[in-house]
Amino acid sequence: MSMWFETTIKGLTGQQRINDSKTPSGRVHIGSLRGVLIHDALYRSLKDQGVDVIYEYGIDDYDPLDGLPADAGAELVEMMGLPLCNIPAPQGSTATDLADHYITEFLDIFKELGVGATFYRMRDVYRSGQFNAAIDAILTKADVVRQVYREVSKADKPSNWYPFQVVCEQCGKIGASEVTDYDGKEVTYYCKPDLVSWAKGCGYRGKVSAFDGHGKLPWKLEWIAKWYTFGVTIEGGGKDHCTKADRAMFLNNVCVQFLAANHR
Ligand SMILES: [Zn+2]
Repeated sequence: MSMWFETTIKGLTGQQRINDSKTPSGRVHIGSLRGVLIHDALYRSLKDQGVDVIYEYGIDDYDPLDGLPADAGAELVEMMGLPLCNIPAPQGSTATDLADHYITEFLDIFKELGVGATFYRMRDVYRSGQFNAAIDAILTKADVVRQVYREVSKADKPSNWYPFQVVCEQCGKIGASEVTDYDGKEVTYYCKPDLVSWAKGCGYRGKVSAFDGHGKLPWKLEWIAKWYTFGVTIEGGGKDHCTKADRAMFLNNVCVQFLAANHR
């Protein structure tokens, strides 16, 4: 009888790229190792069979701080909405920033368990321009994205809604901006005081490049951009990604097909 991971990889040919990721928004729960180990079992199994395979683990540290960690100090309240990698590490920590502070402990466990993943940080991916082509594809075809949201999530986005979050040039928050236009290079945005409940935008209106780390894609689109940019062939998803209510996986599949057809 085959083990589950042998059944999963049966018949796979060519180079394989396994991807998984984590948002470092607090001390990581031990249950988060489940995905890490499932992907590692697939990785080891493919390697044993002589398949050319890599396992990459992404640190989603360009996400905004959208909830206070359990051990948060009072100073973090003011920083809600900033990218996790742009928030200072807590006092006494040797980490370079808050994201680094929370993820280091988790990654140390990878080493102890012998997990064969290599790491990448989303701050580096955005700032180095690796996602520029995906960002341009998604913003240029924002009408298709709106249509998918309408069909899949029943979310009716206005015709001037663009799936992008700018790092506000005035307050530095990434979670509060509303993007209303894209001219092929720059996005027009409003750092809206009441866009989200967990952070208050400063009211600044501006126009800035959509590339090289000036902003990020919302997570559903960011996931697509990872598959598109990195050529991911294997990535698991929880049931919460496959339910009727969310259907993120379906959304991803639709958009991956769309991106592949339009930009390759
Ligand atoms: Zn602002």
